[in-house]
Amino acid sequence: MEAGARAARRTDELRAVETLPRQPQEAERAQAAFLVAGIFTHENDTEADRAEAFGMALESREQFEWLRLRSGRPAVFDDQEDNRRPCACCRNLAESGRCLAAIRREIVARLPYSPPRFLLQRCPAYLPAEGDPDPRPALERWPGLC
Ligand code: SF4
Repeated sequence: MEAGARAARRTDELRAVETLPRQPQEAERAQAAFLVAGIFTHENDTEADRAEAFGMALESREQFEWLRLRSGRPAVFDDQEDNRRPCACCRNLAESGRCLAAIRREIVARLPYSPPRFLLQRCPAYLPAEGDPDPRPALERWPGLC
């Protein structure tokens, strides 16, 4: 199957999941963001695709479950498997999409800085959101960063 068709099918599968409305907890927002960042990694997946999937997972328990099953992991966060985190799991990401750590000059970035929300990384200013099982700030979590 051609790569573009594969990516489209994955998004279509998620869209086709039967849904009921729900009110996600803060912890579920971080879990959904981490799942989206880990699953929608195909070169044809765009930031808009990831944002759409994130919104769907927040709106419906069934679509959240679809993502969780798709991840293939018993627990959402498994730091043995991958201990990176996307900006969407960081308390420094403002509602506006701007990085507050960049505004405070804790990281070097050209302002205004609106980082990609769903890119898995190890950022030296990462502040774990509620729902991250590891509450340590970045430099304790990843001591090799400077
Ligand atoms: S501090 Fe780092 S991880 Fe957090 S929002 Fe800013 S760039 Fe992203």
